[in-house]
Amino acid sequence: MGKRIVVALGGNALGNNLPEQMLAVKETARAIADLIEGGNEVIVAHGNGPQVGMIQKAMAELTRSDPEKYIPCPLSVCVAMSQGYIGYDLQNALREELLDRGIDKGVATVLTQVEVDPEDPAFNNPNKPIGAFMTKEEADKLVAERGYQVMEDAGRGYRRVVASPRPQNVVELGTIRALVDTDHVVVACGGGGIPVFATEGNHLKGAAAVIDKDFASEKLAELLDADYLIILTAVEKAAINFGKPNQKWLDTISVAEAEQYCQEGHFAPGSMLPKVQAAMTFAQSKPGRRALITLLEKARDGIEGRTGTVIVNS
Ligand code: ADP
Ligand code: MG
Repeated sequence: MGKRIVVALGGNALGNNLPEQMLAVKETARAIADLIEGGNEVIVAHGNGPQVGMIQKAMAELTRSDPEKYIPCPLSVCVAMSQGYIGYDLQNALREELLDRGIDKGVATVLTQVEVDPEDPAFNNPNKPIGAFMTKEEADKLVAERGYQVMEDAGRGYRRVVASPRPQNVVELGTIRALVDTDHVVVACGGGGIPVFATEGNHLKGAAAVIDKDFASEKLAELLDADYLIILTAVEKAAINFGKPNQKWLDTISVAEAEQYCQEGHFAPGSMLPKVQAAMTFAQSKPGRRALITLLEKARDGIEGRTGTVIVNS
């Protein structure tokens, strides 16, 4: 029987610039169409690192060209732009691939806001560098004028740093669910979602933060009552002793084993660690839920139990 699957796409599914993305999404669409053809319901989430970096840089240049006319573009708006642009490419590639296979399904991107907690400890320790490198003078000016936080980055100059809080809730959940329940393929939670704070009344306020796409995809999978969270990335499996002579690829592991490997420091923070943590959280959230980490082009093999690292609650 078909499963409900949230697929989280990593950077390699989208490429690093416009022409790369145009090409990459074709292969990505094939991998996703394989899952749909297998009778599964698929919801697509994705990262946005290079894309939001590009947009942020372009907007910063615009401000630099005429600061009176163009005030700095909030990060939340940059994330929204990246969701639109990536969604546009993914949506078109998926539509075409499905039609080529004789599958007639609606494909839609939902601009997704994800609520974060203003009390999240991440706000006391912004550590995610974003945007272009700056001189000390440029950085000082942004600190004074806009209250930005900046960090010197390995002798290469200054960069703005923002917090990476945990996702609490998906604002457009009802809309996403309605589309999924009526057999649409939905692209949602791009770039981890547009981070927002709930404020007084019904107002949502964009937050200067970035949400990790692995954690946002996990939250979305839980809220949609998915059976599977599939994190597609640049490696076929997670490994212990990664990159060392005694490296060992992991097949099926329990949450307890994963927890032990996390504590032993086998997974790099900022790359494999959030994936394993998201996978553990999902596998633990309800009996029967499973998480898989594998290569983009191995998605179908992975779900059929032939490859990837599977994390199960046992
Ligand atoms: P994505 O864009 O898919 O989120 P990341 O670069 O953030 O990709 O994370 C995937 C990368 O994590 C892999 O390409 C690999 O180089 C790295 N990595 C770090 N630790 C491990 C590990 N223990 N096992 C496998 N890959 C690891
Ligand atoms: Mg990553």
